[in-house]
Amino acid sequence: MKAAVLVGKSKFEIQEVDRPEIREDQIRIKVLSASLCGSDLRTYHHGHPKVTLPYIIGHEYVGVIDSIKDKTNTFKVGDVVTIHPAISCGKCEYCSEGDHNMCENRRVLGIAMPGAFAEYVNVPIEVIERGTIIKVPDDVDPAVATLSEPFVAVLNAHELLETTVGDDVVVLGAGPIGMFHCMLARNRGANRVVLADISQEKLKLVAKRGVADEYVYIESEEKLIEEIMEITKGKGASVVVVANTSPISAQQAVKVAAKFGRVMLFAGFPKANPNLGLDGNLIHYRQINVMGAYGSTPSQYQKAAQLLFQGKIDATNLITHHLPLEKINEGFDLMTSGEALKVVLDIGNRED
Ligand SMILES: [Zn+2]
Ligand SMILES: [Zn+2]
Repeated sequence: MKAAVLVGKSKFEIQEVDRPEIREDQIRIKVLSASLCGSDLRTYHHGHPKVTLPYIIGHEYVGVIDSIKDKTNTFKVGDVVTIHPAISCGKCEYCSEGDHNMCENRRVLGIAMPGAFAEYVNVPIEVIERGTIIKVPDDVDPAVATLSEPFVAVLNAHELLETTVGDDVVVLGAGPIGMFHCMLARNRGANRVVLADISQEKLKLVAKRGVADEYVYIESEEKLIEEIMEITKGKGASVVVVANTSPISAQQAVKVAAKFGRVMLFAGFPKANPNLGLDGNLIHYRQINVMGAYGSTPSQYQKAAQLLFQGKIDATNLITHHLPLEKINEGFDLMTSGEALKVVLDIGNRED
């Protein structure tokens, strides 16, 4: 089979490799589409502590079941499915409580096992028991369904934030994830949704797609605070999402939050510098709730997939490029330059 193998710094090679042998405890998937994720971009440029090159990465994908021995008879060869890349153990203290995103023994496709930037990928059959494999209806574009993994993490964040009718929501970071936060906040009835970024180009690209009510260019911290206070009539935002990895952005999030505001730290911060230096007095005196969100649970995955499949969240809005597997390097370069939002690799067809 053809596979895009990450062979070194910023370099994939298209190689002919053996199709993975199928074991009883695995499902073999013929990949239809796979999207490039921000975390893949980091691995592409800087490597990954748990990945030894050469390696096949990629974890946001949709495919057709090519081989399966499903004792539950729920899934069969030919089904088009999306599968969450994080495979929880189902046995630890957290899994027993349903908190699979906190699993002590989580394995992730594309890191702990070869990923989906290839014509075929093998997945542990446990995903059936876990409820993290979902059939994709015929009328749903596979490219859209590849985004169920990034989207469900966003859903987890808003369930924790309890984003609801009347909220003024500010999202810091106008990438695909920031866009998903805006779209979901709207879906949950937010009063106003504001998307802010330090890059004017990015904002321009996103503004055309109409995901927010206001777009704010962060020229300086003062300007950001001024604009958010003006939009919220001096109150500040009831929900602020930090959808980027900058500690400065986290500081600003607290500064634009309203009294009783909820602030979500959605992304990981640089390992060398994860200390945020937040204004503790704002948090204390204004009773601001700063929280984190990571991953998602199987039940959230089911909900997230339905929101995408029914078009209640229009994920096509995020996709700027479709490329063949052979052009994977170009895809990552488009992400690096900021020209692309989501890049989808079209790898296989349903029929053949
Ligand atoms: Zn991802
Ligand atoms: Zn577990």
